[in-house]
Amino acid sequence: MCLAVAVLILACAAFCGMTRVRDGGDVFSFRRTPRYQDDWRLALVNEDYAVPEGYVPTLLTLSNGQRVDERIYPDLQRMFDDARAAGLSLFVREGYRTREEQTQIMENKAREYLRAGYSEAQAREEAARTVAQPGHSEHELGLAVDINSHTAEDEWRLYGWLAENAWRYGFILRYPQGAEDVTGIDYEPWHYRYVGDAAWEIYEQGCTLEEYLCR
Ligand SMILES: [Zn+2]
Repeated sequence: MCLAVAVLILACAAFCGMTRVRDGGDVFSFRRTPRYQDDWRLALVNEDYAVPEGYVPTLLTLSNGQRVDERIYPDLQRMFDDARAAGLSLFVREGYRTREEQTQIMENKAREYLRAGYSEAQAREEAARTVAQPGHSEHELGLAVDINSHTAEDEWRLYGWLAENAWRYGFILRYPQGAEDVTGIDYEPWHYRYVGDAAWEIYEQGCTLEEYLCR
């Protein structure tokens, strides 16, 4: 029986093309093609899936100069209005990034490690743990926002409010704690991704975008 299950898992892993082990040792298999990729709100971008070459969303500039895909603005504004009504003082630290900006961020991070004495290869490897490769950052979609508090002591109260409420406005916590093996990115309580109506299901299931689209 166990052998049959093992063979089935191996066969599925081979078919799906990619397999990752989630915490606890469960084998998590990806579909070769994520579902709903014709829906702009559910575009999957991670270390395996790149932003399409030449992709430039129609951008809207926020009052602090950050830019986002104009289609997410009404829901983003609603979320900010309600968070402010709840006594929070928040702002978008980073919205859309160009490919060049992402490349620069990666270079700067690698340089930090080089200065700290790492070899070139090690520096690049360490940088890749916290910075997405150019072409593989959701910020290049214009659908991701890094949200911070104006007051440092309220930072975690803000993260708590967002974790509880962002789904109401179509946003998900994109890189949850404990899902690093699936997302490939360390826990980021400030990084929210617009997915529209799917946000409720993803929130309720407590899963990642990868799991929602690929299993
Ligand atoms: Zn981010």
